[in-house]
Amino acid sequence: TMKLDAKLLRYLSSEEFRILTAVEMGSKNHEVVPTPLIAQIAKLKSGGAHKILGELAKHNLVARVQNAKYDGYRLTYGGYDYLALHTFAVRGSIHSVGNQIGVGKESDIYIVADDNGTQHVLKIHRLGRTSFRAVKSKRDYLESRKSASWMYMSRLAATKEYAFMRALHEHGFPVPTPIDQNRHCVAMSLVDGVPLTHVAEVADVGQLYADLMALLLRLAAHGLVHGDFNEFNLLVREVDQKPVLIDFPQMISTNHPNAKEQFDRDVECVKTYFRRRYNFDATWWPEFDRDVARTVDLDAAVSASGACKLTKRQQRELEQFLLEKRAEDDGEVNEDESESESEVESDDDEPTPAAADSPANIEQIGATLQRIHLDQAARLGNS
Ligand code: ADP
Ligand code: MG
Repeated sequence: TMKLDAKLLRYLSSEEFRILTAVEMGSKNHEVVPTPLIAQIAKLKSGGAHKILGELAKHNLVARVQNAKYDGYRLTYGGYDYLALHTFAVRGSIHSVGNQIGVGKESDIYIVADDNGTQHVLKIHRLGRTSFRAVKSKRDYLESRKSASWMYMSRLAATKEYAFMRALHEHGFPVPTPIDQNRHCVAMSLVDGVPLTHVAEVADVGQLYADLMALLLRLAAHGLVHGDFNEFNLLVREVDQKPVLIDFPQMISTNHPNAKEQFDRDVECVKTYFRRRYNFDATWWPEFDRDVARTVDLDAAVSASGACKLTKRQQRELEQFLLEKRAEDDGEVNEDESESESEVESDDDEPTPAAADSPANIEQIGATLQRIHLDQAARLGNS
């Protein structure tokens, strides 16, 4: 049974919705959005805005922040999730949200259903969750300081992921069917299969290995390197044990300075996994310099097209963020960096996702929505 009916999202009163949207709009220029500005954007009297903000804060859709300069609010994960789900509900791409099937370090994955009851997958990007320190400390590279936020980075990741999923799908690559994207969320088809890491036995190991290497080469022939081609991002279809590739935010062009390194890393990843897990000793594997022959410029086509919706600068910011994060995950953070980190941490006007936001979860939003609905019903009944 579906836990949250996305249609319930409509029960937020129009004033509450206007205020929530105003907080989001205000966040584009303010790390903490001053209450009077929220009222102004929402075109409400500040007394009224104040009261509604209190309600929204009670339900974790916004959070009150008091700092030295002024009082204000920021959007929480919950509020951002709400707005994205609301958009999907209005478009009819998501009707209800069911079980969570994955918690990545950088995402939450849910089973959802559309208006026709067809099941899909919802991926909610959460780039700030484990690496917000990275966002803050590494923000020097960000060409604009205000963009160094979890919300911004997660939106860039979702936007890029959707653009590449569409392009790959159109070119016949084995990837999920893209369905919709909004803010930090991507909706896609549910693959009937499991990640390679859960496949204990493969009927034809040599064949699967060959399929995977062929997939890497075919991507490269289209000008693309996946960059995270591992047993968690390769699903194996139930029906024929063919691979389906997922997880695209870190994808780069074969013209990128890191292309060879990442391609070789992808190859090595498969080789090592097959040796360790399936006792398969490969006698052949592709090499970037020898075997990559570009025939289609899908990399340029996607990043230059309107489909990607990211500016060159945003693409650079996301890429830089993901590279820094990977370095951090690999334990390559050096002393200098950790020092500047603590320096930055004391710079406290920048909102961080508070403990209350995380775990941001859909169940909580579901409960929130129902409470708001009941509160409203009660208010109507009393008047
Ligand atoms: P992350 O960026 O957090 O690694 P992924 O896109 O790799 O997120 O998804 C995480 C996990 O969720 C995958 O390993 C897989 O188990 C599951 N998953 C993601 N997308 C799908 C899908 N379309 N169909 C089935 N399972 C999926
Ligand atoms: Mg993944």
